Amino acid sequence: MTQTEIISVEGTVTAVQANFYHVQPNNGSADLLCTRRTRLKKIGQQVMVGDQVVVEEIDRQDKRGAIAAVLPRKTELDRPPVANANQLLLVFALAEPALDPWQLSRFLVKAESTGLSLLLALNKQDLLESHECHAWHKRLSEWGYDAVLLSIEQRIGLEKLQQKLAGKISIVAGPSGVGKSSLINCLIPEATLRVGQVSGKLQRGRHTTRHVELFELPCGGLLADSPGFNQPDWQILPQALGNYFPEIRQQLAQENCQFKDCLHLQEPNCAVSDDWERYEIYQKFLDEAIAYKENQQQQRDEETQQKVKMTAGGKQHEPKLATKKYRRTSRRERHQNLKDLYEKQSIDDLFLDE
Ligand code: GDP
Ligand code: ZN
Repeated sequence: MTQTEIISVEGTVTAVQANFYHVQPNNGSADLLCTRRTRLKKIGQQVMVGDQVVVEEIDRQDKRGAIAAVLPRKTELDRPPVANANQLLLVFALAEPALDPWQLSRFLVKAESTGLSLLLALNKQDLLESHECHAWHKRLSEWGYDAVLLSIEQRIGLEKLQQKLAGKISIVAGPSGVGKSSLINCLIPEATLRVGQVSGKLQRGRHTTRHVELFELPCGGLLADSPGFNQPDWQILPQALGNYFPEIRQQLAQENCQFKDCLHLQEPNCAVSDDWERYEIYQKFLDEAIAYKENQQQQRDEETQQKVKMTAGGKQHEPKLATKKYRRTSRRERHQNLKDLYEKQSIDDLFLDE
């Protein structure tokens, strides 16, 4: 017979695998492998990495438990799926690969759009002269970012970085080759041991987009690698883009533009000037955001047109492409019916629940 206790503990979910959840109790006791209570399943309550949960039915011998509740999330990130993250640690290299303001800006904008606070680290300081490093630091502070300069290889800047990571849930992002793995291995000695093994914990975490794992930092705090974040996609609304440039935010804090939906392209009485370094980058990104939005609109229009055609005409005079579109709609409808059925079923289940 196993000894189960009635008491419950609160903890952080550090990994999710199929229907099992690794929970690190907040009281410092050993990690628990948990299932999710049926009641949570029935109300459709998902459990994510980073969630604060209440664990019951704790079996200390087997280190097992059952998640009985999920506490409200402070933040929620989609890709990678992480709850309660405090900040994004964006890693770039000063050289090898060369630091490209356009690529860096793409990542910065994407990072800003998550609403999490942002910590920028520039690695491989050892590859540049110190005046070149300072020039980059100054340039980025003009953009609005206080970057931490690092050399992981020479162990420079790591203490400063650790101070900024302590006690927080941070997500590492950045292009490949900049030193993210080196950084994780260096900050989490335990992960170094694991990385050498094929089935190592860190290895598993690194190579799939859906699997995220939080690693405990010796300085306190948790760190997640973010394979899903590393391909910035462009789904930002044109009107929102300005919020993701500190240069624009700063100017708007002083003065408002005349038009609420101003895109800051020298509209009458726009409060944003054009004499800052990344203005050109802002314009290009804005073009892309507008193109993206128009493309979406066009797709929606085509779908609506297609539906009208099908309800108006009796016979099938549609060209091949259109037939395909029609089928796609109808499949979606079938899907919707199934979903309705499923939802009805779940509600019935709820009433059966004691
Ligand atoms: P990731 O793709 O971002 O995970 O980058 P890696 O951690 O795999 O590092 C890419 C390469 O950069 C490796 O060859 C590392 O040895 C090298 N590297 C990492 N940090 C430094 C550093 O501080 N200085 C120099 N010169 N090379 C580094
Ligand atoms: Zn404006």
